[in-house]
Amino acid sequence: MQVIHVASEMTPVAKVGGLGDVLMGLTRELSWKGHETLAIIPNYGVVDRHWLTPTGRVDTFDTCFDGMTHRATVTYYTLYNDITVGLLDTEWGYWKQQQKIYGNNDEVASFLFFSRAVADWLVQTRRRPNILHVHDWQTAIIPLICRSLDRTKDLASMRSILTVHNFEYQGCCHWGDIARVGLFPLNFPDPSILQDPWHPCLNIIKAGILSVDLVTTVSPTYSQEVKTAEGGRGLHHVLSSLGDKFLGVLNGLDYAFWNPEIDPFLFERFSLSLGMNRIAKAKQENKKQLFQQLGLHVCDDRPLVASITRLVPQKGIYLIQNAFFRAESLGMQCVLLGSVADAGTEPLFRALDTELRRKGNGAVLLMSDEMMAHRLYGAADIFVVPSLFEPCGLTQLIALKYGAIPVVRRTGGLADTVVDVDGGASAQSNGFVFDQPDQPGFDSALLRALILFSRNRDRWGEYMLRGMKQDFSWHNPGMKYLELYQRLHKL
Ligand code: ADP
Repeated sequence: MQVIHVASEMTPVAKVGGLGDVLMGLTRELSWKGHETLAIIPNYGVVDRHWLTPTGRVDTFDTCFDGMTHRATVTYYTLYNDITVGLLDTEWGYWKQQQKIYGNNDEVASFLFFSRAVADWLVQTRRRPNILHVHDWQTAIIPLICRSLDRTKDLASMRSILTVHNFEYQGCCHWGDIARVGLFPLNFPDPSILQDPWHPCLNIIKAGILSVDLVTTVSPTYSQEVKTAEGGRGLHHVLSSLGDKFLGVLNGLDYAFWNPEIDPFLFERFSLSLGMNRIAKAKQENKKQLFQQLGLHVCDDRPLVASITRLVPQKGIYLIQNAFFRAESLGMQCVLLGSVADAGTEPLFRALDTELRRKGNGAVLLMSDEMMAHRLYGAADIFVVPSLFEPCGLTQLIALKYGAIPVVRRTGGLADTVVDVDGGASAQSNGFVFDQPDQPGFDSALLRALILFSRNRDRWGEYMLRGMKQDFSWHNPGMKYLELYQRLHKL
């Protein structure tokens, strides 16, 4: 099977959140399973090239933007020997000039241009993959553009699949934006599929949903939630109308990247085979060294409660902020590693940092830092994810693998992966779950975790081992995607 993934992120070369991790993990799994897999991303200026080995292969083709023809290239690299990555750019470096992945001035135009260029590359270089797998609004329109450019129907046998990682981001734009990549209503057999169902604008994700052969999202529970008026962000009718053309496939974790036994970033590595006491010791050492790095002192009898997140309302960041402000009275130390999405939230979290540091209870690190994230997972005892909604969530899965017990809200992929330890005897119980997205709801689960940690370290250790043992690898989701690809291929 020949599969091409196209996305706006890929860990570790260009990552903002979970989409990057999915691209790396899923393409690696498909390669391991013997399928010819290629991932295409823009050649941003922020691409971290030291992970990439050039293969010497380059495709050259023409594309169109702002009324001009541009010479463009896809340059091929290998990542970890397993994954083939193509970096797409114009010869004069349109994407190379971008120092951020998201939030650039002309963001919609940039991803529409990228989408047009990928379609031109497919048509002109005569690549004929069995499956074109696109991700989120940034690339969702590629199959539709392919159809409008492919006059000789050479791509007719290619099947397309769109995975939506978060329905909050839909790619609102206007015909003027589409015209910049040389396309007009007349180019589309049914231009109305681009119309947003509620607002006077076009909606790229909706156009993608209605033009691909199959739509997936990243967990079974989220796939149900988005079919309701409350969770569908205006797309519930569209999604409900798809029937079995829309389903949820739970994301996996790449255990070659997220594994405390081999993690090069950890101060002290550890694995299940060490047993409960030695794992606890290794985690304590990780905590000590991390705190030293942060200029803090570890309080031995207090758990380290951690959060690693984009600082957006979706993630329940005000619930975290409120609880962490009370670190002293709750008897915990806390570290929040948060990437700032909006300048308005920054002062709140700077104030939290000052408060935590003043009392020696922890810190807030306002940055995106892969090494720091690995170290914090390795040191944490409790990991909080009080999201208001969560399509899948990878941080709770990483936390489990690194021996940190998650406290999560029962929503989306969190509901599919974390089972409450107090919800009756279950071999799957691995964390603390709450329902109401408010402070009493979150506090009640966090308090249960803090009490168990301080009163019954043996039971705590058993849950920790159980979480580390659970298999959230890409193996099963990879099989599921292959099954779907094969189903489409037979159409
Ligand atoms: P989302 O994609 O909505 O941001 P996920 O839970 O699916 O959330 O994935 C988050 C990924 O991004 C994880 O790999 C997590 O470790 C990483 N991450 C989030 N915030 C940061 C940060 N500030 N620094 C480093 N890594 C981060």
